[in-house]
Amino acid sequence: MRYDRVALSGAAWTTPDEWRAVNVRMGAFVARNRAALSSAMAFARALARSLEALAVSMDRLCAVTCPFCPDLCCRRATVWFDRADIILLHLAGHALPAAQVWRGQDGACGYLGTRGCRLPRASRPFICTWYLCSAQMLRLRRDGLIALPSRIAAAKGLRRRMVDAMRCVQDSERRVAATARL
Ligand code: SF4
Ligand code: SF4
Repeated sequence: MRYDRVALSGAAWTTPDEWRAVNVRMGAFVARNRAALSSAMAFARALARSLEALAVSMDRLCAVTCPFCPDLCCRRATVWFDRADIILLHLAGHALPAAQVWRGQDGACGYLGTRGCRLPRASRPFICTWYLCSAQMLRLRRDGLIALPSRIAAAKGLRRRMVDAMRCVQDSERRVAATARL
């Protein structure tokens, strides 16, 4: 891993060791609780499918807005993988990104490549899909594509339900551990 990287202020798991540790912990938790996590996994799979379907529309939208943008958001945005993003990566069985989002020396997101984001849509921080800039909103209104924000909101709802289902299993594991210590 190159270390001309700038960690994002406010982000968790910014060092290679922290990133590895959180993913080892999450992977072990999922392996220990696979049966109990069936509901959370169903939400995760539904969310992943929804993000993959959104990718087609989002890529089309980006193709008609981003090449003309004077201020590329991926060059200035402060986004990172949060806990729900990590949960989705593990429950949906996606390949893990190499590191928490970082900035290059030029200030741009470290995952920004010459042809846009190098991560598959479903493996990006959710905020990268949730965010529609004013140029994109204008374009959606102009073309009558008002369903896209609703589809993104539906994906956000699935994400919340996935996290809630995950939390139930984590709480239950904690209760069992506490009882065993009595
Ligand atoms: S999403 Fe909007 S702000 Fe970001 S690069 Fe595209 S047009 Fe620009
Ligand atoms: S992860 Fe991808 S979409 Fe999100 S800010 Fe970075 S380059 Fe842009």
